[in-house]
Amino acid sequence: MCSVRWAPSACCMQMVPINIYFMNTILSLQNILKQYPATTGFAGIANISLELTKGEVVCLVGPSGAGKSTLLRCVAGLESMDSGQVLLEGAMPKDGDITFVFQDYNLWSHKTVLENIVLAPVLSGKVSRSEAVAHASFLLERFSLLDKKDAYPDFLSGGQKQRAAIIRALAIKPKVLLLDEITSALDPELVNSVLNVIKVLAKEGQSMLIATHQLKFATEVADRIIFLESGKQAQVSSPQDFLYGQTNPRIVEFIKTLNLHTQEISVYEGYDQFQAFQLGLLKRQRAGEAQCVVGSSGDRWFECMGKYYKDYEKLRIEKSIPWRMLMYSESARDKDIRLRHPLLNEYRLMPATLENPANYYVVGDVVVIQIFGEPGDEPAVIEIKNAHLAKSYQNYFNLLWEQSTAII
Ligand code: ADP
Repeated sequence: MCSVRWAPSACCMQMVPINIYFMNTILSLQNILKQYPATTGFAGIANISLELTKGEVVCLVGPSGAGKSTLLRCVAGLESMDSGQVLLEGAMPKDGDITFVFQDYNLWSHKTVLENIVLAPVLSGKVSRSEAVAHASFLLERFSLLDKKDAYPDFLSGGQKQRAAIIRALAIKPKVLLLDEITSALDPELVNSVLNVIKVLAKEGQSMLIATHQLKFATEVADRIIFLESGKQAQVSSPQDFLYGQTNPRIVEFIKTLNLHTQEISVYEGYDQFQAFQLGLLKRQRAGEAQCVVGSSGDRWFECMGKYYKDYEKLRIEKSIPWRMLMYSESARDKDIRLRHPLLNEYRLMPATLENPANYYVVGDVVVIQIFGEPGDEPAVIEIKNAHLAKSYQNYFNLLWEQSTAII
């Protein structure tokens, strides 16, 4: 252990501990205070201190109004602080050291994606235009956006706009990237395309400070989670301790409310809705992820899908999504499908003693209960999005699967 010595920082002649450099600290926040005028109570952030080591990812979580955004904006220099300081490698940050990605992208709408990205590096004067374009193209390619380089932001999806905004922030090779609720303006199906980019950056050692409501993402990507409440740092913990070892009752409540938002039950009734739901779920499903079905109803499902069955099957084959099917008996149509695509159709016969009256399947975090009634009845589907329920249904499926006989 080295003892703490003191050295003047590069540009402001403030005294900083010299062992910061040995400890690999990249960003140091010291007693940051920002107070907004408030009608009642305190608004802003009070005395927040934090050291971010090189390559570290810290997620800021907490209720709305807790101060996450204010803290990030102070660190980025977008907001003036009342007191405290932000140091980067022991000195005042320089332009481009810290970049900020906004919730609502903030792309220039009159410039193409490429122009948005190369503007800051070229203006910085550190690289030539051709070097900036080459680096931008490299980043666009990496994050599957090269084909949109000449598009204007208004012609991109929300997920593509946000990826373009992240690439723009990366183009000046920041030492620290700040992300402020970057998925909150996105439709749920686009969220992962953006979060996956951040996961890649985290793996590569990009230091990041992230404000997010996506707890699952936070626990996957963060080295530490900081819970802010009423502008104060209420808890610093590892992701595991935050989620599974939580002892603070207010944080337990907060986690519960977020989980409630991710839990949904939807009912789709009638042939049209049944078909639309099945196709929609298949589109959202990850390629290669199996559908595990209990109580296959054979030809009734095909009848309910009507003319959409062909599209369904085409997409399922394109996405290599296996049907792992536990059935009571195999119809001629099932057999035909199984023999045509033996790798994508694994069928087993359930022993009569294990028969289950409900017909359901599990896909990722979703349980789908299918109600067929009698031939000719309008079908219905109940979709339950709940990771815990899906896991226990999946476990039950696995148990039944082991006890059933393969049809070959
Ligand atoms: P979070 O990002 O956690 O939702 P914010 O940082 O946006 O929280 O807000 C923290 C507190 O500061 C809230 O009480 C909010 O109302 C207040 N606040 C934020 N920005 C301003 C502003 N520009 N003017 C006045 N009050 C503000």
